Amino acid sequence: MAASTSASRLPSTLALLLTLGCSGGAEEVAPAGAPIPALMFTAIANEVVAPAASPRSPDGLTEGLAAALALPAPSDAPAPYTLLHDSFRDRRPAVQLPRASRAGLATTVGQPLDGDAVWVAFDACLVSDQAEATEELSVGGVSHQVSGRWRTILQQAPDGPGALELERGSDGPANSALLLSSPRIVELDSAQPTVILITSDTHRADHVSTINAGSPVSTPHIDRLGSEGAVFTNCFSSINNTNPSHVTLLTGVHPRDTKIINNHTRLHHSAETLAERFREAGYQTYAALSAFHLFDDVSGLGQGFDRMSAPLRGAVDGRGTLARAGEWLHDASGSPLFLWVHLFDAHTPYELPDEQMQELLDGRPDPYRDDVDLGLAPRPLPSWLEKSELRDPEFVTALYAGEVRYLDGLLGDFLARPRVASASIAFTADHGEALGERGIWWDHFGLVDPTIHVPLVLRGPGVKPGSRSAAPVRQMDVGRTLLGMAGLDGAPFPGRDVRAALDEEPAPEPRFALSAQGISASVELEGWLLELYLRDVTGSDSSPDRKLGEVTLFDLASDPRCANDRLLDEFSRAQRMRAALIQWLDAARSTGMTYENQEVNPAVQAKLAELGYTGGLESIYRWWTPERRDAGWIANRWHLAFEGTGAPALLR
Ligand SMILES: [Zn+2]
Repeated sequence: MAASTSASRLPSTLALLLTLGCSGGAEEVAPAGAPIPALMFTAIANEVVAPAASPRSPDGLTEGLAAALALPAPSDAPAPYTLLHDSFRDRRPAVQLPRASRAGLATTVGQPLDGDAVWVAFDACLVSDQAEATEELSVGGVSHQVSGRWRTILQQAPDGPGALELERGSDGPANSALLLSSPRIVELDSAQPTVILITSDTHRADHVSTINAGSPVSTPHIDRLGSEGAVFTNCFSSINNTNPSHVTLLTGVHPRDTKIINNHTRLHHSAETLAERFREAGYQTYAALSAFHLFDDVSGLGQGFDRMSAPLRGAVDGRGTLARAGEWLHDASGSPLFLWVHLFDAHTPYELPDEQMQELLDGRPDPYRDDVDLGLAPRPLPSWLEKSELRDPEFVTALYAGEVRYLDGLLGDFLARPRVASASIAFTADHGEALGERGIWWDHFGLVDPTIHVPLVLRGPGVKPGSRSAAPVRQMDVGRTLLGMAGLDGAPFPGRDVRAALDEEPAPEPRFALSAQGISASVELEGWLLELYLRDVTGSDSSPDRKLGEVTLFDLASDPRCANDRLLDEFSRAQRMRAALIQWLDAARSTGMTYENQEVNPAVQAKLAELGYTGGLESIYRWWTPERRDAGWIANRWHLAFEGTGAPALLR
């Protein structure tokens, strides 16, 4: 987060200075060899607009207004403002321009910009408790209407060292704040780099037809992206739930070390994120998200993003998310852009628009008939399924495939947009979904191939069109790879560039994963997947009962759906893999990426429960300790089989 609030860490070659009354700004000398200039407001008003005693607003703006006006003392740094629109939240770091004041946009180095070629842009928004309120903002003598929705104002830079003058008049809504965000230099005539990360939530790898020839669903648009770039058929996620997986994707740090293994632990502001790396390199950074809990207030992932939007609660259809991302593409004209788009369509509840639902129902037996037994008793059905009255398990599974077909169609339109069509793109998932494997139905509990084997498709520099790799790669390396594709190899960020696997088969290395709440851990090596339960599971809605210490072993090459446990006939392999997994768990390090003693917000918990997330708050580190193992572990028959007598007979 540091980069968004501290001018000192930015390459400030051409940092634009916003100064009251156009008074001069600090002189700064460009550091030698500075990278692409990143621009920001470096000074701001010395007063804050006072909120009305009880601001009222139609259209749900009150909370946004309060959030905007209740900021602490003014600071030189942009602070994040979250505005509420009809059904989504829009978060941007911004500064306020008080009423009846003037400001300047100028370069801190005091050097003339070439007025013929250089334009500046910034975003402006008027937060008011009056619906439809607008106000005039004068920029370089040109009047612009500012309203309750962010708009981008584009203006030719002043020719010479003078400031571009901004003036807010004395007329306008009384209880309002004028916010300014993301000042930047744009180059209108040149194509700018575009890097897009698309995460399809809950999308298992075998539901992409270019990855699995036997896929139950055809995904022509993802396939086409793959044919224009590379398809990785053997990519594993590091964890099986949403926020932890995205935190790992956007930090390059494994959940074992982020210590974020549930959907409500917030990433610490001191963490270094992929968005920060791109922003420091001069990129505009936008995130259009489909689930409320990836928004900054729950996930902490807003750091580094110039814009972030997400629904107010629950999750939304990818159509709206992609539409917003599409609008933003226009705003970023002339600037390098890093865009993260998150789609939630493949996640439960599987609810298709009417037309697609009808298509899926056509020619099938009635899936609502009540003479079919879902076959899940005695476990309760997930509430969405209970409500849906669907009774045919095959149809529910077909609905999952229908969701994948639907999102692929949405992506088709998005990928055809002009700037997207030429962008560097990574398409992947946070985790997969079990469709009955290991007794887990329409959920991503447990660490088996269906829940952690995810799609990975890359298109862009250094990726030969039509290339494919079956080498084992990790989803947590996608961030490093995107930086490499953008030519930012020098940007500090963990991980390895997976493009290397296209040229050379990497030496076999274990791939480790943790499950949500640290219920189990797994290691994959040379096509074998071993899962170790780190605690008992009883009476779960999502999974059959499991025992602390329980181990399973699957040969993924012959058994990708993990149906035949090979533990007993491959016991010595299992012993080696289990020992490596325990050694890896013991090597967890403290990275300070979470807040100490973070309290869980009950409102957030209630909203998570609406999405079916009822997992406990327990952290792996409260029980994966040597003490815990001494007490609950050593007497365990699984432990005895592996480490005591070493006798698999104990497990027969
Ligand atoms: Zn997810």
